[in-house]
Amino acid sequence: MFEKERDVAIEAVTKAAALCQQVRESLVSAETIAKMDKSPVTVADFGAQAVIIDAILKAFPEDPIVAEEDTAALCGDDACALREKVLEYVRGSLPKMSETEMLDAIDSGHHRGGGSGRFWTLDPIDGTKGYIRGDQYAIALALIENGKVVFGILGCPNLPFGGLGADGPRGVLLTARRGEGAVLMDMNSGVSRQILVTEESDPSKAVFCESFESAHTAHGVSAEVVHALGVNVAPARLDSQCKYAVVARGEAGVYTRLPTREDYEEKIWDHAAGVIIVEEAGGAVTDARGEPLDFSQGRTLRRNKGVVATNGHLHGDVIAAVRSAMPAL
Ligand code: AMP
Ligand code: MG
Repeated sequence: MFEKERDVAIEAVTKAAALCQQVRESLVSAETIAKMDKSPVTVADFGAQAVIIDAILKAFPEDPIVAEEDTAALCGDDACALREKVLEYVRGSLPKMSETEMLDAIDSGHHRGGGSGRFWTLDPIDGTKGYIRGDQYAIALALIENGKVVFGILGCPNLPFGGLGADGPRGVLLTARRGEGAVLMDMNSGVSRQILVTEESDPSKAVFCESFESAHTAHGVSAEVVHALGVNVAPARLDSQCKYAVVARGEAGVYTRLPTREDYEEKIWDHAAGVIIVEEAGGAVTDARGEPLDFSQGRTLRRNKGVVATNGHLHGDVIAAVRSAMPAL
């Protein structure tokens, strides 16, 4: 099942990853990093979204798409230079694309999602701060059918094949089809292998990971959670759905995302691909209260609060510790 979807997605995400890396090499300067100037992210974000949506719609013209970006910021005379920059990079992989075709592709990501039929969900650059820093970021694409994630792919251009701290070439793709397991592929060589979560069942020995950004997860609460579970090592911090990737391939046992705000609704494109990859690698993913993630609610996970992903064995202990650290959740 979903072989054609997988093949189309691998090709599209590989192209988008190359575009993002090219933009970063040519547009990100020391000045951009110091000022946190977002313009390179903007160019890469729109470029990656155009390339991926174009590929999906050529292969599956009827499929709706829920994507993070729209063309609002690309419209009008003020945005002329930005539009031209995005088109220049898009033409690196789609030489014949016109400006109108590019804008139409980007704007095809406006679907509302929901619980019936099938649609794709796309985050062209997840982890924008990591992208600017030259650190972890991900291109995340998933297919949802009747509210369930059935296929997911993460392109992680800065994640080493051999482990977070490993030397050597960086850049991996992770894919998972429902019921078929999860696969890790080296972007450079094409070498791939099935991946499995760790077998660790002692929470005190588990490796935890969480967002780099304190606005996206409550660092203070996770410190309490790991302390309560007898863990001596602080959670590893990294941007993007690469956290799901490190849980899926067994490097970390736990990823916690603990709400910092009552009113924040997690976006489906920030989770769908990572969730199926962890599940197919043998792990478990719920919200921070232990409830299943509900992808049938539109563009957000509005029925859920936060996220906890684990290797499965550790799930009950981690949820219990989170619930006692966040009784109001
Ligand atoms: P991460 O790299 O894991 O920190 O996640 C990046 C994603 O966090 C972005 O794509 C945003 O959609 C999302 N985000 C933005 N604000 C919040 C928030 N208050 N809580 C959780 N996630 C957020
Ligand atoms: Mg994101």
